Formats: sequence, C-alpha cells, structure tokens
Amino acid sequence: MTDWRGTPLVDFHCHLDLYPDHSGAVLQRDEERVFTLAVTTTPKAFPRNKELADRTKYVRAALGLHPQLVAERAHELSIWKEYLPSTRYVGEVGLDAGRLFYHSFEDQKNVFEEVLTASAEAGGKILSVHSVRCAKVVLDMIEAKLPIGTGRVVLHWFTGSASEARRAAEMGCFFSVNAAMLRKEKSRKLVESLPEDRILTETDGPFANQDQNSSGPADVKPARDGLAALFGCERERISERISANLNSLLR
Ligand code: MN
Repeated sequence: MTDWRGTPLVDFHCHLDLYPDHSGAVLQRDEERVFTLAVTTTPKAFPRNKELADRTKYVRAALGLHPQLVAERAHELSIWKEYLPSTRYVGEVGLDAGRLFYHSFEDQKNVFEEVLTASAEAGGKILSVHSVRCAKVVLDMIEAKLPIGTGRVVLHWFTGSASEARRAAEMGCFFSVNAAMLRKEKSRKLVESLPEDRILTETDGPFANQDQNSSGPADVKPARDGLAALFGCERERISERISANLNSLLR
C-alpha cells in the first residue's frame, strides 16, 4: 500500500467535476502532487470521475449523493449502491438541515441511513460527510449505523460545537478543514480544539473558492497556511502532520 507520508498537499474534499475543464483539473492536481478526494454530488457523475482518477497517482474518486440533491434524486440511491463495490471512497454524503434543504430532511435521513448501512456491510469505506446544522443527528446516525471498525468518517467543513467535535473524535472521525473555516473566529476556535492527529485540509472547490481569478481548481495552500498560523508552527510541520494523518486514515 502507498505510503502517503511526505505527500506535499492534501485536499480531502474537492468537486473537480464542477470546474469547466474537469480532465484538466484532475491532471493539474496530479502534476502538483496534491492528494485529492474528488467528491461527487450524484452517483451518475461517478464513472467519469473514476475513469479520470484511475489514471493518476494522487486523485481518488468518491461516490456521492449530496444531501442538498436528495429532494430530487433520492431514487438514484439504487445507482449509488450499484457502484459502491467499485470504490473505497464515499462522498459527498450526509445531512443538511439548513433553511433551504430542511424540507427534505426526512428523505435525507433515509438516504444517509442506507448509505451508512451499505458502507458498514461492505467494510473498509472512507466517507466524506456533510453535516450542516445537524451535527448531533449526523453523529447519532454514524454511531448507530457505521460503528468503529466498520468504516471511517471525515467530517467535511464541520461547524458543530466543541463538545460535538470531541464526541466525533472519540468516535474515530477525522475533520477536513478549509480556509473559509479559518477566517471566522467561531470556527477557528473549533479547529483549534481538534486533535492534531485527526486534521486534514480541503478546499471544497469550487464552492469555497478563494482564488477565483485562477482557472484551475482552488488552492489548498491557504488552508495549510491558516492551520500553521493557528497552531503557531511552520508550514512544513503542518504539511508533515497532515500527510501523516492521511497515511493513518488510509492505512
Ligand atoms: Mn462539497
């Protein structure tokens, strides 16, 4: 198995297929040696993502069904299940209790429960999980349906409370942190409280794109540099820490 220690950069949540030049974005990430989890919002997008990722060393494709799309696409769960055996990575999945998506919350819970159950049955999956305004429900469901040892969870752009973060860490979860989280005082405090050995970086590009002038995918360096500033250490040390964390997640 590949040893990811020493990998220069990690973007554990990026929508490469939502950039104008999808294949160019995948190639760019591979050339720049950025370990990138290319998440998808619908299972129909997965085969093309996988085909491109399989030609690279650094890009992996994740099989998703985004909670914000569940209202229209819950029926695609059967396609999601069909593709599950072909990948180790699942995402973007989870729940969104924000104002715009709360109307589908019951359907979202049904889909997420099936995603967790199928992942646990398959074993060895790594999930990138969305949890807007419902950290507690997401953690309750993970605890019940994907218990420790049956799969691993990376909480993407986590905005729950410090005690919820502590609970997630005790459950074995990792956290992928982006630059936008490090610009707000409240989420900075939360990131500061996370166990150092559970932190990864992400861009969530193009949704949290901080460098809209560039034509390629969002840069993950601002997240790394923000963590270095927050923890008061050298960038190199943060990079080493994050690649060691990636290694422990993927081993
Ligand atoms: Mn996303």
